[in-house]
Amino acid sequence: MINTVSFRTLGCRLNQSESDSIQYELQNAGFTIVDKKVPSDLTIINSCAVTRQAEAKTRGAIAAARRISPNGKIVVVGCYAQLSAQDLKHLSGVNLILGNNEKYRIMDFLNGLEDGGTEIRVSDEVGGNTFSPPGIISRGTHTRAHMKIQEGCDYRCAYCVIPLLRGGTRSRNFADCIAEAKLLVEQGIKEIVLSGINIGTYMSEGGRDLTDLIESLLKETDIQRLRISSIEPDLIPDRLIALMKHEPRICRHFHIPLQHGSNEILGLMRRRYRVESYIEIVEKIAGSVPEVCIGTDVLVGFPGESEEHFIETAKLLERLPLAYFHVFRFSARPETAASKLRDNVKIRDKKIRSEQLRKLSETCSNHFLRRFVGKKLRVLFEKKNKSGLYEGLSDNYIKVNVKSKEPLINQIKNVAITQINGAVAQGEVVVCE
Ligand code: SF4
Repeated sequence: MINTVSFRTLGCRLNQSESDSIQYELQNAGFTIVDKKVPSDLTIINSCAVTRQAEAKTRGAIAAARRISPNGKIVVVGCYAQLSAQDLKHLSGVNLILGNNEKYRIMDFLNGLEDGGTEIRVSDEVGGNTFSPPGIISRGTHTRAHMKIQEGCDYRCAYCVIPLLRGGTRSRNFADCIAEAKLLVEQGIKEIVLSGINIGTYMSEGGRDLTDLIESLLKETDIQRLRISSIEPDLIPDRLIALMKHEPRICRHFHIPLQHGSNEILGLMRRRYRVESYIEIVEKIAGSVPEVCIGTDVLVGFPGESEEHFIETAKLLERLPLAYFHVFRFSARPETAASKLRDNVKIRDKKIRSEQLRKLSETCSNHFLRRFVGKKLRVLFEKKNKSGLYEGLSDNYIKVNVKSKEPLINQIKNVAITQINGAVAQGEVVVCE
């Protein structure tokens, strides 16, 4: 008998949004959602296959679920399930494997779980409508919700398996996006993160794009904050930058994947821009939106990457106005163009290079954070930590801790930043503004 359910979500924000929707549906059906650290009757693992490391993390999550809930059932859903269901079947403790289309019908399969064995439900068809109706709310934390507005991707970056696993680009109905945002506001959500695989390609049936959607969300809902998740550098129109500059309800935060700092490698990666246009867009944003936080993704060790190519990347990252970068190591993904190239960068070199860039990211991040000592930031508070401090996130993506006698959770406050401790800013709530 399944009463309690816990979740383990790997990978991107879209996975988070999809887990939130599944969680909401199960809750409404009467299941009790519990923390992943306590035993549960069922653990749902929303998996990731974007790199080999992501797959290893998924296997680690399965092992952790088995350890914490030795008598519980395990369902693996999502991208790793879609890519390698047979491999997952051989891992002990996995009862059900659902592909990217099937994961939304999880309730249909729960009765079968009682019979034991491992069932695989993964269809090759991945281009379907995977958007929940607006009643199924991607609630997430009590303060912030990841709202899925787009799915799939038509770009064919040489290293990326996502289009194979999630299909081509498609966009959620415009009116449904607005309706869900209104419901989220009614539920007390203060921040919505617009999520998808390639959200810059958002296009509604009536020809309305991402900027149109943001404008309508601002006009037609009372949402206090909108955040844009990762967006490709060739898909950021001036209109969007201008909107971010003038509209305080849009978080001053862009995550723009660079992937590499050498045009030769960008070409091999089949990316749709070159270094010059990346520099142009990042500098345009930094010059237009005061105190904006710009982060990026970088991939090291792509086939053909020489020491010189790597140095080019490191130098570019040093000169750009970036607040942080996520560093990934290349691993060949099945059926991608890059899997046919000779993976000629030694594992040792990949590790050294990624470590070097991670350290550089820490330096950039520290540099970015220090700019805010003595300044005020608008912070949405999400929880109280073990030390009794309230933790929140500024609109420009800075983690902020404050001490307060007044409860602050789910409130947006002005905070004067007093010091930086590692990756966190400390501050005091400003009472009189
Ligand atoms: S833009 Fe490129 S990296 Fe991003 S999902 Fe599409 S194919 Fe993958």
